[in-house]
Amino acid sequence: MRIAFLGLGIMGRPMATNLVKAGHEVCVWNRTARQHVEGGKTAVSPADAAKECEVVWLCVADTTAVERVMFGPDGVEQSLHEGMIVVDSSTISPSATSKFAERIAAKGVQWVDAPVTGSKIGAENAQLIFIVGGTPEAVEFLQPLFKAMGRNIIHMGGIGKGQSAKLCMNLQIAMIYEGFAEGMTLARKLGVDPQKMVELIQASMIRSGVVDYKIPFVMRHDYSPNFPLRLMHKDIHLLLDTAKEVRVKLPALETVDEIYELASEEGWDDEDYAATIKLLEGWAGVGK
Ligand code: NAP
Repeated sequence: MRIAFLGLGIMGRPMATNLVKAGHEVCVWNRTARQHVEGGKTAVSPADAAKECEVVWLCVADTTAVERVMFGPDGVEQSLHEGMIVVDSSTISPSATSKFAERIAAKGVQWVDAPVTGSKIGAENAQLIFIVGGTPEAVEFLQPLFKAMGRNIIHMGGIGKGQSAKLCMNLQIAMIYEGFAEGMTLARKLGVDPQKMVELIQASMIRSGVVDYKIPFVMRHDYSPNFPLRLMHKDIHLLLDTAKEVRVKLPALETVDEIYELASEEGWDDEDYAATIKLLEGWAGVGK
């Protein structure tokens, strides 16, 4: 299939690479020029990349970035043609997703929201889980592409339902991690060996995928970004805004947001979100 892949960040680069490996014709574009993927072509703009493609796949930072890539100067909109499908694997606002989808529907183009979970390692190993919103026909058509990049495709419903579900999932990831971080910090202050604490967590019912993923990094104080703190913070704001739109209160998430604000003030935006534990350790006086 001919695919334009837009956004070569932590997630986008390995995703585009896996599409090339699966034998698809991939043309990439990234805002920062001179980025390419082995075996793929490189375009000078989103409009240039999307020309003559059947599918345009986006994986950029946030709602503003998607809007810019789609509808800004030299945006995808200029190259839209009937029958094309735009797939968005960025995590963005569900309500903005509906507006973007309506705008391209006028040109006979379908929108599929397909945010992912699995982080950097899942993207590299083609083990992502796609959380999908769109028509059953479009989702069926995209199956070979999903399979080239992921291990599981969960069709949540119509347009926007993928983004909605992804946000509700990240709400839980942020809170599970904060629970782990607070538990580990208090355990250390009480003199419990962190290694023994990890052994207990992994043997018990509180074991979770989030914690399993983060433990090796936290134990060696490695906060290099798998999922950068700035992006989880972006998702927390998306969640709080989306909840406000539908008049739902999220008091625990508001508290977690305060921790992210402080971590951001510390200058840790480009570290992994796991770095929030450093604040707790600092307050408790149990640094490295
Ligand atoms: P990243 O490494 O920060 O990459 C972000 C990408 O977006 C880069 O290609 C960047 O271009 C581009 N971009 C940012 N602002 C832009 C703008 N205004 N116009 C055009 N392009 C712009 O992020 P990532 O980790 O790949 O994440 C991408 C998306 O996937 C995000 O929505 C994130 O929430 C979601 N996600 C990430 C993970 C994860 O573990 N990393 C997991 C699940 C979902 P430049 O290179 O020019 O800056």
